Amino acid sequence: MKIDILTLFPEMFTGVLQSSILKKAQDKEVVTISTINFRDYSTNKHKTVDDYPYGGGHGMVLKPEPIFSAVEAIPHYEQARIIMLTPQGEKFSQKKAEELSKEKHLIFLCGHYEGFDERIREHLATDELSIGDYVLTGGELAAMVIIDSVTRLLPGVLGNEGSVETDSFSLGLLEYPQYTRPEEYRGWRVPDILLSGHHQNIEKWRKKESLKRTLLRRPDLLAEATLDQTDRELLKQ
Ligand code: SAM
Repeated sequence: MKIDILTLFPEMFTGVLQSSILKKAQDKEVVTISTINFRDYSTNKHKTVDDYPYGGGHGMVLKPEPIFSAVEAIPHYEQARIIMLTPQGEKFSQKKAEELSKEKHLIFLCGHYEGFDERIREHLATDELSIGDYVLTGGELAAMVIIDSVTRLLPGVLGNEGSVETDSFSLGLLEYPQYTRPEEYRGWRVPDILLSGHHQNIEKWRKKESLKRTLLRRPDLLAEATLDQTDRELLKQ
């Protein structure tokens, strides 16, 4: 996968892209991630990228020219998903991460100040995504969140591929509780079933805990999940 990030603050990405699983994914060449400072595409002698809003009002609006020029300089941009980060967009989800992980090329547009000139939304972006109902100063953190969750789904990125499948949301439910050594800590014991070595019973326990946890914390997810007869019986227990 190829990812291009248009931003006025490429330095914000340094730590995130150079650490942990995102770094490994790039080292393995599963993903190539580049930042592009669209200020470099401003033709104005002061390299301005924003201007006052027509009609008046507070703040500055990102001009269309540098953003269109920066995107159009990316080879094969016409085949890419061009994702505008905006609090007005569709709310990002695990389902969206799975959908995006199947693409070959993603371009992220990080806004700042009062946001984008509407013509960028209308004539350049193919998608508009929000990471939640709150307003950030810029799209950079939102882009990082999305890139992180998409990259970990790419084949070969996580050592243990199975972990993606049991993660919260992947099956429409929250994940079951996890424990590691020691068996007992400050008198708090790991549930006996997990030490039993009985795989079938462990799977059943995990499914039940997963259903129970989802029912208590996120009944909205449960309403959407596809449950079979066994799941429904486990839920009643
Ligand atoms: N005036 C805009 C509005 O009310 O819709 C908000 C602009 S915000 C201060 C600046 C930039 O931060 C946006 O252009 C967008 O790129 C990014 N941003 C802010 N909140 C976001 C969110 N919840 N999800 C994704 N991007 C966000």
